[in-house]
Amino acid sequence: MSHFALQSTQVVIAGNMIAACVEIKDQLIHAIHPYGQALNCEVKDFGEQVIMPGLVDSHVHINEPGRTEWEGFNTATQAAAAGGITALVDMPLNCIPVTTTKAAFQEKLDSVDDKLWVDCGFWGGVIPDNIDELDGLLSAGVLGVKSFLIDSGIEEFPPVEAKDMRAAMPILAKYDVPYLIHAELDCGHFDDVEITKKYDSFLESRPKSWENNAISLMVDMARESKEAGDNCKVHIVHLSSDEALSTIAQAKSEGLRFTAETCPHYLTIASENIPDGKTLFKCCPPIRENKNREHLWQAITDGRLDFIVSDHSPCTPELKHIDTGDIEKAWGGISALQFGLSLIWTEAKDRGFTLVDLARLMSLETAKFAGLDGIKGAIKVGNHADFCVFDPTIEYTITTEMIKHKHNITPYAGRKVFGQVNHTFVRGFHVYQQDEFINSPIGRPLLKGQL
Ligand SMILES: [Zn+2]
Repeated sequence: MSHFALQSTQVVIAGNMIAACVEIKDQLIHAIHPYGQALNCEVKDFGEQVIMPGLVDSHVHINEPGRTEWEGFNTATQAAAAGGITALVDMPLNCIPVTTTKAAFQEKLDSVDDKLWVDCGFWGGVIPDNIDELDGLLSAGVLGVKSFLIDSGIEEFPPVEAKDMRAAMPILAKYDVPYLIHAELDCGHFDDVEITKKYDSFLESRPKSWENNAISLMVDMARESKEAGDNCKVHIVHLSSDEALSTIAQAKSEGLRFTAETCPHYLTIASENIPDGKTLFKCCPPIRENKNREHLWQAITDGRLDFIVSDHSPCTPELKHIDTGDIEKAWGGISALQFGLSLIWTEAKDRGFTLVDLARLMSLETAKFAGLDGIKGAIKVGNHADFCVFDPTIEYTITTEMIKHKHNITPYAGRKVFGQVNHTFVRGFHVYQQDEFINSPIGRPLLKGQL
């Protein structure tokens, strides 16, 4: 069905919630009409359910090719569709090979065939010895690149130093793509912290100062790049430390192209409530105290933080060491791709946010960041017909049976949340409806220069 319309009394359009009818033709948004408009095509009426732009999640680890026992494109994009996400951007690790060369990127593209339930872009990686590869990677269509300032946990994705970034940034500026940074800097002093089953011991081993110092370094790098005439875009992934917020604000006020994201786990979980030995809550940087969490919400409110993404980072249950509760040995990463909107809505609605705000924070801004805003991120004539139909009033409890990603583990099992994704449309294709996937995967790779 290439010509039809969706309508509801609540549609997020141009920063407002209005009653409207959205006409779709050939995978694109063709026109926006008043609610109830007579049209010469089928009109699906969603009543009072909210029609939002499909979410764009720019931080997902899919791990294919190479670590498909952890996750893969089929299961990850099904989870995305179930969460109202219509486009995601895959990280350059922990797949094998890591996405640091054009050849490795081609291997990744070869692995997605017939597996994508939503559209999918890709980040490349910068490591100390691949600067010569960046032109090739970027002209092949990655949307930007990522580096670590600390051990990534993956040997073949080592951290960079300032000299490596100095070499990379002019190239990234030439392509006008963002430089994503895992901002923790191991400044020593904490190597002797013994990590026990107590969550607080893990928290103590990854102090805020590691993030604060890394972010200060990145502001210096961005400043240097601006002075050199490149003004490379710098982006801090998964911010956890509230103490770094003022540094980010300073960078923005200086006119540097400096952005930062945070994730549902930092906004919805407080370390005081994490039971000891519960390895499912381990991620890096760590989930911190409730007071820190409140400060992150303030930064979402006033714009010091730009948007919210999942950082879905799954692995096998064995690698999580769930049975032994060994936090030190457990792989760091949170799996919850499909629950992001419900988790955030549950917290956000009581803080005065509306679904218009969440459409901005989880779709419009992430689409802009990844360079996808010409096609995704808003219900607008000419954009892809990507929608999430969301009922904000339904309350449900997250269970492991609901999980669509590869392994049915998540730290959120048992948590009560508000708001349920009832339908997802990708380029006009109805891909998900109340726990069911429809037809076959129709997602496409999203490549820079070919959008
Ligand atoms: Zn990540």
